[in-house]
Amino acid sequence: MPASVDLPSRTTVIERFKGQGGRIAAVLPIHYPRALFRAFGMLPIEVWGPPGVDKSTGDAHLQAYACSTVRAGLSFILSGAGEVADAILVPHTCDSLQALASVLLDFTKPHQMVLTLYVPKAERASDLEFLGKELRRVFGRLVELTGQRPTDAELHAAMDREQQADEVLARLLSERGKLGVGNREFYGVVRSREYLPAEEFASLARAALDKWAGAPLPKRTPILATGIMPEPMDVLDALDEAGLSIVADDFAGSGRRLYKASTAHDPFDRMAKTLLSGSPDPTRGCGIQPRIDHLVDLAKRTGARGALFYEIKFCEPEAFYVPLVTRGLQAAGVPCLAVEVDITDPMPDQLVTRIEAFAESLS
Ligand code: SF4
Repeated sequence: MPASVDLPSRTTVIERFKGQGGRIAAVLPIHYPRALFRAFGMLPIEVWGPPGVDKSTGDAHLQAYACSTVRAGLSFILSGAGEVADAILVPHTCDSLQALASVLLDFTKPHQMVLTLYVPKAERASDLEFLGKELRRVFGRLVELTGQRPTDAELHAAMDREQQADEVLARLLSERGKLGVGNREFYGVVRSREYLPAEEFASLARAALDKWAGAPLPKRTPILATGIMPEPMDVLDALDEAGLSIVADDFAGSGRRLYKASTAHDPFDRMAKTLLSGSPDPTRGCGIQPRIDHLVDLAKRTGARGALFYEIKFCEPEAFYVPLVTRGLQAAGVPCLAVEVDITDPMPDQLVTRIEAFAESLS
């Protein structure tokens, strides 16, 4: 096995960034303009849960059927751990995140600036125009917060850096089947995109690619995995132990954020075009058939022999699609396993057993 990649922790990255005079933005899932924050000297740190947090603080403000990502996310923000953030961004990804934004803005009112972002569900000219205005609105709030006003050239430079990081992420995901590394270590690097500055992620991911490219390939059955994110990450150990390797990634946090480069002259148009260029995504209300076509194509291109739908309980945007999309994949010869988890709970033994049985059925 190759030596493991040395990943800095979120805490280290935050402390270092703040030590250099930077600010931190806590960002909830999923689509948002990383470059906009970086142009203001702010590092976006994504809050996907986190698992292991005591979610009782968030539970007190949310309905019982809100997903664990939102319940844990709110608890985290309201806890001492969230104090490190200078601003909080809540994109309107789903009703649960909309509820979280309302709790912050109307009830708990943290001392940090709370920003919202409405990402449209389609890609018409009017959607692009709307998103451009949304991005300008967020820009204006960040001017208020920081007293800075980045130039167009600075915004473009920040977007260039994010574009390069996205290109390396795309290489990592597309070359996954040829890399001699287990799921757990691989996703440690992939998910460092959630908190590392773009330029640091790009250099760390390039080093990981070099390291893993020459390593012997473990004998594993290739699969496609989809859902919001592989959390708790113990699921990746369970997949490793069952002899399954994720070679096709459609997680909302990684594979669905491989944005295409835009050459638009206006920085806000460029940001808007980029953000709307991801693959078919249920959280953006994509059509069922485009989603099936995309996943079938991804499975065929990567040689995935089955598909794991790793879903979070009460995640409505995803849940509406699962029955029809799994049927479409199965009709195309891709067997599916759909499971649901609460990211704040330990991995249930029953889930490990289902993953093992799925692995056996594919071998
Ligand atoms: S897990 Fe689903 S419901 Fe929860 S925040 Fe994410 S998209 Fe929304």
